[in-house]
Parts: sequence; C-alpha cells; structure tokens
Amino acid sequence: MIAGGIEISSAPPRAAPPRRTKARRSPSAGARYFSSKRAIDEGYLVTICRWDPARVRREFARIRWGSHLCMPCPHCGTLDEHRWYEERGVWRCLNGACRKYFGVTTGTLFDAHQRDLRNIYIETFLWSCGAAGIPALTVRAMVGTVSYNTSFSTIQKVREGLARGHNAGLIAGVVEIDGAHASGHDAAGKRGRPLAQQRPKGQAEMDAQAQSVMDAFNRKQDQKRLTPAQRRALKAENEELRRDGLVRDPNTGAILPHNRRMVMTLRRRTGNPGDGSVWTKVGVGMAETPEVAEYLAHRHVLMPESILATDLGVAFSKLGKKFRLHTTVNHSETLVGPNGEHVNMAESFTARQDRAEAGIYLNIEPKYLHEYACETAFREDHRRVSPRLKTEKLLFWALNVGKSQYWRNYTAGENRQFEELVPKRRAVGASSGPRKRVPGQEMEIRPPR
Ligand SMILES: [Zn+2]
Repeated sequence: MIAGGIEISSAPPRAAPPRRTKARRSPSAGARYFSSKRAIDEGYLVTICRWDPARVRREFARIRWGSHLCMPCPHCGTLDEHRWYEERGVWRCLNGACRKYFGVTTGTLFDAHQRDLRNIYIETFLWSCGAAGIPALTVRAMVGTVSYNTSFSTIQKVREGLARGHNAGLIAGVVEIDGAHASGHDAAGKRGRPLAQQRPKGQAEMDAQAQSVMDAFNRKQDQKRLTPAQRRALKAENEELRRDGLVRDPNTGAILPHNRRMVMTLRRRTGNPGDGSVWTKVGVGMAETPEVAEYLAHRHVLMPESILATDLGVAFSKLGKKFRLHTTVNHSETLVGPNGEHVNMAESFTARQDRAEAGIYLNIEPKYLHEYACETAFREDHRRVSPRLKTEKLLFWALNVGKSQYWRNYTAGENRQFEELVPKRRAVGASSGPRKRVPGQEMEIRPPR
C-alpha cells in the first residue's frame, strides 16, 4: 500500500514456518497398497449391474468349474460338454445312465436358491470390500434386499464356504500359534452407566486390582509346585467346572464367563520381508489349554517339519516338543525376543478380529464365532487382494464345498443345533429359543379394517 509516496505495510512480516524437526512417517505397506491402483477394480460394480442373466450364469460356471462349456455333472460326475437348454437355463447330463438336469448352483451352498444370481454376486462383492467385516444389515441397505434374513443367510452361506473351504488343509513352515479372548463381554451391563475411566478410582479399588494381579501370578507359580494329589484335586475341580459349562484360564487360573471363548490362530509366515503371512487357520476353544492347541496343530500343521513360534502360554510347552523347533517370546517383557522370536502375525489376526467384534459385529454369538473367525482369517490373508478376486475366491468356495449343512431352510425356521468348538462340538439350541406361538395372537397385530 502506497500513501503520500511512503510505503506502508499493513500486515506484520510473516514469521517463517517452524522447521520440521521430526521425519515424516513413511506410509505402511497396507496404506501404500490401498492408495495404489491395484486395490480397486475400476468400474467393476457398474459392469456387474449391466450383465444379463446369461452372462451372470457364465461367470458362476467359470468360477465353479473353470468353464461354462465343459463341466462335471453334479449328480454323477461325468465330465463332458453337457447339453444346454437356453430357455430353462439348465444343462442336461449326457451320461445315458444319469440324464439329469442341473443348474450352475446345483449341489452347492446356494442349491435351490430363489434369488437372482446377480444379487448374490453383488452382495458378495460389496461384502468382500470391508477391511474387518460388513454387517448383513449394511449389505441389505446397499443392495436394497427387502428381507434382512435373505441377506443374512446369503452372507452366512459365504461364511460357511470359508469355514469348510478356506479353513481346511495343512500348513508347514514357520507357524505362529496364539489365542485371544473373544465374546463374553458384558456389553449390555454397561449401558446407561458411566465409563469406568471417567470416575477416579479409590485407593481400595486400586489395591484390589493390584491384589488380583498378584493372586493370578501366585496361582500360576503355585501350580508349578503342586504335589500329585493336589494336581488330581485341581483336575477334578476343573472337570466339575466343565460340567457346569465353565472353564478356568490355564494361564491365570481365573474362571472365565460362560460365554467367553478363545479364538486360536495358526499362521504360517511367508518368509518374505514385508509380506507377513497369507496362510491362516483358526479354531475356537473354551480356553487356551494344551488340548485345544494340540488338536488344532494336529488338524492343520505338518508338525515334524515345521517350526513353532508362540508366547509363553502353558498350552504350548508340551506341544513344542513335537515340532522341529519351538521358539518363544516372553510377552511380559518384549514383543520381539533377542533372536527375533515373535508371534506378531498371529497378533495381527487378533487385532482384526477384535476390530470386527468391537467395531462392526458388536455381539458375536459364541455359537457362530467360528464362522466369524474364519471370515477374519480370509480378510487377513487377502488384505492386499482386489475385491473382484476376493469375490471370485469367496464364490469358488461357496460353489465347491457341497450343499449347505448349516443354513438350508434357515428362513423356514431351521437352525443349526451345535457350536463348532475344539476339541469337541457342543450341542446348542436356536439362538432365539424355541418359537412360541400363541393361538390367535397373529391376528392382533393386524390393523383393524
Ligand atoms: Zn450326470
């Protein structure tokens, strides 16, 4: 600004920005992947929406059999170029002894479905996009499915495919095993009450907390010095607890809530720096006990040629002797041992499972926890895979593990009668209890004419 030949500056001179003293944190491999072009399938959702029914069927056939021209008959297994009936949308078996008709979902989890195949494809695609999970209610809102049960049972069938497809088979190499508590949090009990952190703790409360930590530590120490008679007494006591549906945490000695479960993870490292792990198996037990760990290791790991990596949990000391080598890390001291021992890839799975439980699904019923853990294992293993490939993998398992064992006739009121637990399944009833129909009551909800 110039006034009377004198230059007047109206604003004070600007101070130089403070020098950045800390180095900017470089983005993680996950962040780099998600901002790259590989993480997306450009315009794929719009493409799916434009497919005509024949194209959707071809896509399903390609995912299921690898071809829509030549396939094995689901009834007799004859591999041939079976006869195609365009107007009915089915094939007819060329084997003279069979001659049966079949569609692209015959003998799969979607057997006898009554939905548009494209809707199943779109729901699976949208559901696969979540990092830790997507609720069926959200999928219902996105696709515009009228009934919640329809979306829910479709997604549960996809989960069943994961539980019976992805979570099967053996792994070998450096295998990390770890357990994490899941379910059994009394969320409803906290409703309407102030958070514990918001009110200052009294001295007595803090003393009690310190004492309980000391007690747990002492119990663990005492267990090491038990006489055979005391050991038998403890075993009998634990057996009695088990009959009541309760279990004692072998690490701390505390009695766990009746709906608490332990999600056990078995992850094989890729061995390539930065790649983490992409082979994960899971199982759900009542607690992190030697029996549960041993059962899962027998089911999923080639033990004599593998290396076991665990923390110092009591479940693994005996199991470690069956492996070629057993490395442990003491989590009360460090996350990585002096020679690089760690279970951080198993912890990474646990973090995602916790996110799914705390942030997305909120109240995962113990009855279905195994399926949710399988879902997390899939999401963890395919964290750097585009949604299109994930959808194709999800559908591959849904179309290749046979008919649904858990979700057939679900909408008609049939429920699975067991909980998938290791080492043994446990019989449980329907989540909502038996149906109670009071005669005449159905009429009352109708508006008067
Ligand atoms: Zn046939």
